[in-house]
Parts: sequence; C-alpha cells; structure tokens
Amino acid sequence: MSGYTQRVRDSILPLSVAGTLPDAFAEWSFTENTIDHEAPIETCQLCGQQELRYHFEIGNAYTNGRLWVGSHCILQFDVAVLEDGRRLSPTDAKRHLTKLTQKMQMEFCIRALEQLARSEDNPILSGALDYYRRKKKLTPKYAAVVFWKLQAFNIDHHPSFFQVELRRAQHVEDLRQMPTSRVHRFWSALSTSQRRKAVELGHQPPTG
Ligand SMILES: [Zn+2]
Repeated sequence: MSGYTQRVRDSILPLSVAGTLPDAFAEWSFTENTIDHEAPIETCQLCGQQELRYHFEIGNAYTNGRLWVGSHCILQFDVAVLEDGRRLSPTDAKRHLTKLTQKMQMEFCIRALEQLARSEDNPILSGALDYYRRKKKLTPKYAAVVFWKLQAFNIDHHPSFFQVELRRAQHVEDLRQMPTSRVHRFWSALSTSQRRKAVELGHQPPTG
C-alpha cells in the first residue's frame, strides 16, 4: 500500500520496532477501547484528521505504544482488528467498527434519556427511557414527546441516532392519527422506508 503521508510516518514509526511502512503497521492492533467525545472536537493521532467525535485506540504489542485514531485509519492502513484472537477480514473489521460506533450512539441516546427523565417528573419520560433500554427503539408516541422535551430542556442529543419502532399495527395506527407537526419532531429518526410509510399515511415531509 502506498500513500503514507509524512504525518503518518512521524506518528507511527517512533512507537514501532520496524523502521519502515508497512512493516510497522503489522505490530499494531485495535485494543477495543473507544471514546465518544460527544462532539466533533478530536484529532486522529495517526493522520491528523480533525473533527472526530469517536476515538478508537490502537496499540503496539512490542513497544506498548498507544494511539487514539479514527476508525478510517484502522481500515485504511489495515491495522489488525481481532475477535477471539482471530484477525478479522477487512469486511468484518469494518462491520465490527460500525457496530461499536452504533453502540456508542445508543449509549449517548440513553444518557440523553436519563437526563431527560431526571429533568421532569413525568411517567411518559421514565417510560420512554425504560422502553428504549429494553428495545433500543422508541415508539412513535414516545418519540413525539421525547424529542419535544429534549429540545425544551436543551439536552444534547442527535435525533438520527434514535430508531423508531413501527412494526406493530398499533404503532402504525398511532402514527396515522398523529398531527403531522408532531410527526416532524422525529422525522429525522425515521428510516427511508418509515418516511415513505408516513407519507402513505397522509403526512407531508417537513420543508426546508
Ligand atoms: Zn486518521
């Protein structure tokens, strides 16, 4: 593989035994440690890319060197991602890192819902938290209240990190009967097919 920048060399070689690339990368693997910085404020310690929200730690087995990098660098430079001591294929490594990112997003959603449940003594909000913990999703009714209240209390959240449950007939019926302005509160949490469903049920997509 070519395309190593000076920045990448300067980051990795002093912490490696091998003095050249790609040999040095063979000494490194993903440690499974991750951090959600909750805003795009961090830098990849390997390539220098800025505005990272999620950090993934890579470690060198021989030198104990450690670097916090973006998942892009793990994939681009083929840093080993292991599962039960077995090295994953590039496709499986990518899937594994995506899963870890989704897990961090879910945990961020739970923290927002916990903060919300503490902000107001309201059984709907504690019910939404309990439901999300069990199902990793919100019903349309919960979503309509939760996003409204998250905004009202100015709690940091990301609507698109949430998923909405729309498989049961009752949830579809609830969505149908809801005023469109309420559906718009959680429009960005709906998948493409769920948005199509909402339009079928008579709701217009939000404008602007
Ligand atoms: Zn990078």
